[in-house]
Amino acid sequence: MCCTCCRKDNQLLETEDDDNFQLSRLYSVETDGKWPLIYATQYDISFMGLEKLHPFDAGKWGRVYHFLLDSEMITDDCVVRPLEINEDELLYVHSKKYIKSLKSSFTVAQITEVPPVLLLPNCVVQKQVLSPFRFQTGGTILAGKLALTRGWAINIGGGFHHCCANNGGGFCAYADITLCIKYIFGDDQNRITSAMIVDLDAHQGNGHERDFKSDRRVYIMDVYNRHIYPKDHDAKEAIDRKVELNCEVEDEEYLNKVKVNLEAALSEFTPQIIIFNAGTDILKGDGLGLLSVSAEGIIKRDELVFSNARKRNIPIVMVTSGGYQKQTARVIADSILNLKSKGLITITKD
Ligand SMILES: [Zn+2]
Repeated sequence: MCCTCCRKDNQLLETEDDDNFQLSRLYSVETDGKWPLIYATQYDISFMGLEKLHPFDAGKWGRVYHFLLDSEMITDDCVVRPLEINEDELLYVHSKKYIKSLKSSFTVAQITEVPPVLLLPNCVVQKQVLSPFRFQTGGTILAGKLALTRGWAINIGGGFHHCCANNGGGFCAYADITLCIKYIFGDDQNRITSAMIVDLDAHQGNGHERDFKSDRRVYIMDVYNRHIYPKDHDAKEAIDRKVELNCEVEDEEYLNKVKVNLEAALSEFTPQIIIFNAGTDILKGDGLGLLSVSAEGIIKRDELVFSNARKRNIPIVMVTSGGYQKQTARVIADSILNLKSKGLITITKD
């Protein structure tokens, strides 16, 4: 174990101990005999065409799931269904002030970047917009626990890496990565004291960076386009291995940088779990990511990350994060199918 893991943040630990009663419910769903693949129909955002006002494909999660069903890799009954995280559970990480702010439709409109949302009553916003994110957040938390027993877990959602304990933004309303890690750290059964976030979404993951800035138990590697949102300079101080890209980076340069830096990261820090934020907005043509990686490049990237984790026997959680072009769901499904065909994800019982 790396010596940096031992420099624990005592204040954080005290908070977690006080709140330990909250940890069991989201972990309590049926997982026996199922794949550690997590999805619920409630993930998808759909409300009277409102989702069409957004440049994002707000139904990508369901499409990934259906591609996997069509491929016969999975059946409906072999997938794990997460619970929706409730307010008490969110308060394990989030401030009361922030959760209260989501009761304003104006705030949610700002976070989701869908201006018409501010015209909706908040009860409608909670049900149609925030509830899908709460299900996905429950999924990421559950993925953390499952990965520890199965070696890997994939949440076909989550990866809200711009949200921190006190602020949302960039389509991210809940800090699911922070919650996942703090739940694992707080769960007495795991005895986990170190984690690595490998954030390969096109954007800087300023949410989890702000949350773990002073927590040496968490090592952060972030590879992102330096010229796009959020350009959060304070949050960058939390990154242990920072790889800043320029626009239009293509497969060869991208994959080489991910490979070299991931291997270097794992040689200087040995985590007990890896959280892989597998954003697909690096895909060529993405109007937000502005990079030029091909679909095949994304599939190779995911294989690279999984093979590095699996050969070292480090449990890995994958979340799907950004990337909302029409072809994105197909790329994510193909990547998961590739992981299976390469033997990097296999089913084992608890
Ligand atoms: Zn992104």
